[in-house]
Amino acid sequence: DSAGELQSFSSGTDVENVVIIGSGPAGYTAAIYAARANLKPVVFEGFQMGGVPGGQLMTTTEVENFPGFPDGITGPDLMDRMRRQAERWGAELFQEDVEFLDVKNSPFTVRSSERKVNCHTVIFATGATAKRLRLPHEDEFWSRGISACAICDGASPLFKGQVLAVVGGGDTATEEALYLTKYARHGPIKGIKSNARQVGYGECFRVFNNPNVTVHFNTETVDVVSNLKGQISGVLIRKTDTGEESVLEARGLFYGIGHTPNTQLLEGQVELDSAGYVVVKDGTARTSVEGVFAAGDVQDHEWRQAVTAAGSGCIAALSVERYLTSKD
Ligand code: FAD
Repeated sequence: DSAGELQSFSSGTDVENVVIIGSGPAGYTAAIYAARANLKPVVFEGFQMGGVPGGQLMTTTEVENFPGFPDGITGPDLMDRMRRQAERWGAELFQEDVEFLDVKNSPFTVRSSERKVNCHTVIFATGATAKRLRLPHEDEFWSRGISACAICDGASPLFKGQVLAVVGGGDTATEEALYLTKYARHGPIKGIKSNARQVGYGECFRVFNNPNVTVHFNTETVDVVSNLKGQISGVLIRKTDTGEESVLEARGLFYGIGHTPNTQLLEGQVELDSAGYVVVKDGTARTSVEGVFAAGDVQDHEWRQAVTAAGSGCIAALSVERYLTSKD
């Protein structure tokens, strides 16, 4: 344990009121509410994306569905505004990853490579990461033809009215495909399903009965192919039974292969569901451990939107305030 060598952070007391882990919409919203409630929150923003705080929206361009921005706003601009708002109200921000967390012993301990903080409560808002296929040209076309969020990107000019493909064999892919039928060209969605039996019965029925969706069974995605303008023009697919390869015409590829919640720090300490998401009591931010609250995508495998993450960050911060008041 190298804790002894670490700087021990303190804003005047030995034990902080609340540590917030994460700097997406959930973490910053929790920070704004906690700071305005005079709780002097300490925020670990994370260092995962090359030291850039702000979470998943830092990887996107236009955000068109966050209320208050009628002309849209870029993801980085939106997150910078949230960050500045949290700072303005006095949240203490550290651009560091939390490497160790102990919520079994009270007060809790949170540690990064730079410092160790003791605290009465934790708001866990570390988000989730969309699973990727690691296709050879994936990085080149990420957010420029490949997306992991139909609700976010389906209506963008890049995809609207185009032939689109969705990869995945479960409920996520099915939902993405059905959502995209609102925007794509008639008869266009090509669901690439390696195993159609994974699709839930109700969703499955809706996909098979939708004339705008063609399902390709026993098919895997090999890569995307582009035209001379540098746009995606198709998806290279391979039949898993025969090995035969072909190109499926498509201007965009949506991943519906699920997300991985960033909950490694909580393993063995707080109840997680079978997919690794934090289990919260219905309609609250409360986890199985008193004083530990969760907000945003880390506890939400269903909605996964900036505004829902922000909403749950608000609930978490107000819950912390109530909890601390009840302990006074
Ligand atoms: P995240 O945004 O995932 O942030 C989690 C944060 O936790 C990150 O800053 C990370 O660095 C930090 N973290 C993780 N582990 C640690 C650790 N150990 N220590 C410290 N920090 C840590 N939603 C919309 O509503 N509209 C859109 O247009 C839209 N477009 C999107 C486009 C893309 C490409 C993607 C990927 C997502 C999009 N989304 C959109 C979804 C939206 O980004 C998420 O729902 C939202 O960001 C979730 O917020 P969050 O605060 O829960 O987590």
